[in-house]
Amino acid sequence: MKNVILTGDRPTGRLHIGHYVGSLRERVRLQNSGAYDEIYIMIADAQALTDNAEHPEKVRSNVMEVALDYLACGVDPEKSVIFIQSTVPQLTELTFYYLNLVTLSRLQRNPTVKAEIQMRNFETSIPVGFLTYPISQAADITAFGANTVPAGEDQAPMIEQCKEIVRKFNAVYGETLVEPEIVLPKNKNCLRLPGLDGKAKMSKSLGNCIYLSDEPETVREKVMSMYTDPDHIRVSDPGKVEGNTVFTYLDAFCKEEQFKKYLPEYKNLDELKDHYRRGGLGDVKIKKFLVSVLQEELAPIYARRKEWEAKTDDVREILKRGCAAAERKAAQTLENVRRAMRINYF
Ligand code: ATP
Ligand code: MG
Repeated sequence: MKNVILTGDRPTGRLHIGHYVGSLRERVRLQNSGAYDEIYIMIADAQALTDNAEHPEKVRSNVMEVALDYLACGVDPEKSVIFIQSTVPQLTELTFYYLNLVTLSRLQRNPTVKAEIQMRNFETSIPVGFLTYPISQAADITAFGANTVPAGEDQAPMIEQCKEIVRKFNAVYGETLVEPEIVLPKNKNCLRLPGLDGKAKMSKSLGNCIYLSDEPETVREKVMSMYTDPDHIRVSDPGKVEGNTVFTYLDAFCKEEQFKKYLPEYKNLDELKDHYRRGGLGDVKIKKFLVSVLQEELAPIYARRKEWEAKTDDVREILKRGCAAAERKAAQTLENVRRAMRINYF
């Protein structure tokens, strides 16, 4: 069996450090591991429209932003196919067939969709397309025969739903589709990076993000205004580390050798945490350390993004080639699906 990756992002905004630790960093690592035969990275514009139907310009303009973020992070168009979802019509057709394999109550039980409905205040006015996006996501994954999906924790219910569709399809129509596995980040602090405001998830829709394209100075300002422990008022007060966003980000980003470089009076993060818990360590100091850690990780990404921003015609060409390659692959799968379903008439 081939080793194939399918993964992607919604073009609802520029990508942020939550995407980076939750999925992008892992994708680039897998891409460069040489263990994969094919890698598809999808800019999910059609999925973005399920809750942005009235804002097509927002989705359109962010397609380029997301492509730039990919290239900036080290996605290599020679090794990975970057494509735009809506340019592959086979995905829509597959979705139409899969809709029949899922019940409404099953969709309504999906915990991520439930949380997203609440976050968007849809109440009873849920767009049908939004409720069914896990089915269209199953079409995206299976169209490419992907066995590996590197994604953040919020995607686990989507992969579960996809597996159920694959099993049902194969049971009814015969062995045709590949069952995928999610690859979550190994560092558990990266599963769901909280927002700057300490809210459960850094999310484009909540505006609590550090973007990969933020200027170094903006990163500094954002970190300095971050949420810490509200009861840690004086430097001498004992502080809480759990739920303290500065420490969560340090857990996700900092490397031991960075202590020697930026904060030599501590050996590692455990020592820093112990001091904070005891009291006597101020928020400004830990924030300044976090600024250095983040700026070090983001500097090469920022520089590469600037280079690609100067040649968007090349980026458009990469996308065009990617869309054509993706369509070829999806067309093969659709042919197999139609044959299995006995709807290949001529
Ligand atoms: P939106 O608010 O429009 O849904 P989003 O910020 O949730 O945007 P998506 O495009 O839905 O981003 O998610 C893309 C990928 O990034 C998914 O694999 C998701 O799990 C991962 N991801 C998104 N936010 C985070 C986060 N805060 N921490 C870890 N992973 C994340
Ligand atoms: Mg999302």
